[in-house]
Amino acid sequence: MRINRTRMEDWIFRKIGGTASGSHLTRDALRQYQAEKLRETVAYAGQNSPFYRARLADFPVETLQTPEDVSRLPFTTAQDIRKAPLKFLCVSQSDISRMVTLKTSGTTANPKRLCFTAQDLELTVDFFAHAMRSFVKPGQRVLILLPGEQPDSVGDLLRRGLDRIGVDGIVSGPVADPAQTADTILKQEIDGLVGIPTQVLQLVRTDGVKKIPAGRIKSVILSTDYVPEAVKKTLESAWGCRVFNHYGMTEMGYGGGVECHAQCGYHFRDADLLMEIVDPATGQPKQDGEYGEAVFTTLTRHGMPLIRYRTGDLTRFLPDPCPCGTVLKRMEPVRGRIAGSIALKNGQMLTVRDLDERLLTLPELLNYQAEITRENGLDLLRISVYTSAGNDPQLAETIRQTVSGIPAIQAALNESVLSVGEIQFSPENWFTTGMKKRKIEDRR
Ligand SMILES: [Zn+2]
Repeated sequence: MRINRTRMEDWIFRKIGGTASGSHLTRDALRQYQAEKLRETVAYAGQNSPFYRARLADFPVETLQTPEDVSRLPFTTAQDIRKAPLKFLCVSQSDISRMVTLKTSGTTANPKRLCFTAQDLELTVDFFAHAMRSFVKPGQRVLILLPGEQPDSVGDLLRRGLDRIGVDGIVSGPVADPAQTADTILKQEIDGLVGIPTQVLQLVRTDGVKKIPAGRIKSVILSTDYVPEAVKKTLESAWGCRVFNHYGMTEMGYGGGVECHAQCGYHFRDADLLMEIVDPATGQPKQDGEYGEAVFTTLTRHGMPLIRYRTGDLTRFLPDPCPCGTVLKRMEPVRGRIAGSIALKNGQMLTVRDLDERLLTLPELLNYQAEITRENGLDLLRISVYTSAGNDPQLAETIRQTVSGIPAIQAALNESVLSVGEIQFSPENWFTTGMKKRKIEDRR
């Protein structure tokens, strides 16, 4: 089967000044553009933002000759933003159209604040319009299961992007009641969904799968830091749809990279973002193919540019060209948070991904939470589950066995340094807007 080249490529080609019909984007042209925008960004931030002025005022901008030269600049961390978000501003506060406050739950840390001008938001709307063209056709209807009530929120920007390509975007917000969402899908004759993985999973495992006929939903775009493969497969087989990953975060201006029809890695909005992979411990650049931390620099941001922002997400650039034939690089779907790995007592690492890929394959499971505590010197893993079957002792046993079969857990159980607590059934659905990244709570 021939896979269409990602539509992101022609969009980026036009954005960087390509016009001649019949010609295409080349890697050289993109690299040249990125190096030029990098110099512009460093000069602009160094002059206008108090945070970067202190750091970069004396940096010899003209020495940034290639995109890789970005590695000579210092990193920006989430902590830097939390400490003094307004020091990042390059414009006056009256020029800011939207300020987003991201709270870290359970900590007393200052919230992270991110600011965007109208021009910054326009770039995101434009990205959404072009990214979505690969998945939906004019005249179709897309249900947006992301926060979107407020003007310029992620759901609102996506709706505006869809409108530009003749697609009707209906903002319904994160799924609070799956039955109601299923009704909306049928009544409004929805063709595509954009949502948060565990929420769309609930839709398919509760009323959704019974009511929504296969073929109704043609495409699902899952947007978050990490999409479990188990969720993707469940949706594809239940609805006969295609499931695509989008990777983005508020710091990126919501939109970042999206999969093409080859479904093996994201292509990024390379005219707006310069992506890197670095060693999380040393900060040194990683070669294509090697895993590390995703780091990005904004190339076109006016309100609050970010230079080498550390995402904390573990991934890599895939070394081979994409089967879709684009010259754009592709990044493997994020494998989870670097800080999200928990070291068990025997040194084995356990991640949310390990749990997700096993637990979310169980058809009755709708959501779960995991925490690790220490009792009598031993690690104790507690799992609470929210299921469609309610409190079922046989299911509890299946969950226990599934968890115990995860290699890291199995090894720790064999060495008697870990025990798995009784499985707790929760009537709660741990409603989330998806803006918080999922993790194993470490309470040791
Ligand atoms: Zn591709």
